[in-house]
Amino acid sequence: MSALTIDARDGSARTGRLRTAHGDVNTPAFMPVGTHATVKSLDPDEVRACGADIVLCNAYHLALRPGVDLIERAGGLHSFMAWDGPILTDSGGFQLVSLRTVTAVDDDAATFVSPYDGARLRVTPEEAVGLQARMNADIVMCLDQPVAWGADAAQAEAATKRTHRWAERCAAVHPGDGRLLFGICQGGFDEQARAASASRVAGLDFDGIAVGGLSVGEPLEVMEAMTAASVAELPVDRPRYFMGLGTDAELLTMVALGVDMFDCVAPTRLARTGAALTPDGRLPLRRAVYRDDLRPLVDGCPCPACRRFSRAYLRHLIGAGEILGHRLLTLHNVTHLSTLMAGAREAISAGRFGVFRAETEARLRAAGDGEEGADAADAGQPQRIGRTVESARIPGTLGPRG
Ligand SMILES: [Zn+2]
Repeated sequence: MSALTIDARDGSARTGRLRTAHGDVNTPAFMPVGTHATVKSLDPDEVRACGADIVLCNAYHLALRPGVDLIERAGGLHSFMAWDGPILTDSGGFQLVSLRTVTAVDDDAATFVSPYDGARLRVTPEEAVGLQARMNADIVMCLDQPVAWGADAAQAEAATKRTHRWAERCAAVHPGDGRLLFGICQGGFDEQARAASASRVAGLDFDGIAVGGLSVGEPLEVMEAMTAASVAELPVDRPRYFMGLGTDAELLTMVALGVDMFDCVAPTRLARTGAALTPDGRLPLRRAVYRDDLRPLVDGCPCPACRRFSRAYLRHLIGAGEILGHRLLTLHNVTHLSTLMAGAREAISAGRFGVFRAETEARLRAAGDGEEGADAADAGQPQRIGRTVESARIPGTLGPRG
């Protein structure tokens, strides 16, 4: 039986609930990234108040620091980080393309070098599942091997075949106990290979399936075509997760294709640079134009930053390097993406998702290209930020788009 109940469909878009051992997740869902078992600068109660049902943690980083033994002794991730809702842990597969310091990937395992102390960590697919289960993750991700944009067809094929062999080994050690195990399909940047990979992984009867290896620098048309080719082969009753996305427009594009779950480091990382996500695109608060702007960031936004403070005050905090500025922008940015997903769910239920998407995109365009325009560059950020790389300051880690 699928853990996903679909309540309504509108075209290929769908809305429903994903049941986990720690509660339901309303889908389509945005998962804030808490790489190190914290959504940066937020208390778990605040994460909940931002509208998040589920958070993502990174098993690779947590296995290196503070170590799975301590997390297990603390009673698992939920009690360790005081978040009682659902937790999805990523396996570390993405680090195989994002870290310069991976020493070896062979058929049996991936060997990582710790960015903290240089220690080596060799992880087999079975161990990747076991580590996440010991952390008590509600949703456990298979170990996979994505490739970077620009990889040639032979590299993509080899990595995809390895991902399939690893998926079989992960499926054979399903952690049970109410935990969900998600497979990950790859296929590089070729539609046929994408469809074949999705079909192969779908055949392994996972509780959900992620589309991996995208949003790594490829053009939007390629990303959309690859996702469509993948999703077409996935079982309709299982949750689908696009790893590491994105802008408002990209998220709605993927919702339209029938994707149910997303994660992205953008809301927390952009907050650190002083940029707010808004329905009119990114608002780079460091700009002088906001110095005397006493309006709220976004009219009607329920977050504490918008309810109580002005753009001018937030800009002042950011300029003065005050922690409160970072925290308030994080609260706002996570609330913004939760609100976008809530709007999508409501629109799908009402059979007007197409209108909702068109209105959202029109508002972004009217604001001067919004996220696609100069604001993103101003914020020092790429247009798209890929899968769970909330670790830009760790030596040896490439930027999200390489
Ligand atoms: Zn707000």
